[in-house]
Amino acid sequence: MIGICVFFPAFSFAQRCASAEYIDQQKLADPSFANRINAIENFIRNQNFAAKITGEGGSLIITIPVVVHIIYGSALQNISDAQVKSQIDALNRDYRRQNADSINTPSRFKPFAADINIEFALATADPNGRATTGIIRKPTTVRSWLNDDKIKYSSQGGNNAWDSKFYLNIWVCNLYPALGYSSLPGSSADKDGVVISYKAFGTINVSSPYDMGRTTTHEVGHWLGLKHPWGDTYCGDDLVDDTRCREILQPVVQIIFAPPAIMELWATCI
Ligand SMILES: [Zn+2]
Repeated sequence: MIGICVFFPAFSFAQRCASAEYIDQQKLADPSFANRINAIENFIRNQNFAAKITGEGGSLIITIPVVVHIIYGSALQNISDAQVKSQIDALNRDYRRQNADSINTPSRFKPFAADINIEFALATADPNGRATTGIIRKPTTVRSWLNDDKIKYSSQGGNNAWDSKFYLNIWVCNLYPALGYSSLPGSSADKDGVVISYKAFGTINVSSPYDMGRTTTHEVGHWLGLKHPWGDTYCGDDLVDDTRCREILQPVVQIIFAPPAIMELWATCI
């Protein structure tokens, strides 16, 4: 259900999302990582979400504190507080299903699309309990960043993560060539979080079609445990019951922003 309301509209730029490639790299580097992911997926599979949603406590809203690490090599990359806040607003619209384009949800998914009662807020206290805006600015001499996690370490020119038990870490930087990538639940704490290009973060001072904040919505979906609808393999399983099996998208269409109605046409595995 989560996949429908926040992930489906946003994943059409798969070539711009380096998460699957990144996770494969992590599994190669640390064989125990795959076991941790499998254990978490089994835990999720055994939850009775339908009962929890309709039962007591179903309206509880979870607010996730966010720290945004702006790692900049130029004034252009040092994005404004307003741009950061526009991204937090976009996240909240998408995850609370208050996004205006929710009316475009394909009819077969409308019975399942839902507000998932998750909100995001810039952190107001740092790991030491001191007041913070939730926005960290740090200059760097690194010209661009890959999906190799160097951004997550001060020693590499980036900035160390805040404790992932208490914060969603978002690094905003000159990421290239991808627009974003994310860890999965089960990643090590120092690598937990999402990395987004400054060119695709927020809804102001960003060029179309990446000016809706959906790159971050998409990557936060991964951070919460969602896979791409094609399960990151040919006709794979995304472990979400209400998305049908679908082919992996062809490279030529992966980079094209397509509306959900078009995405429906690509379901050819069943
Ligand atoms: Zn992705």
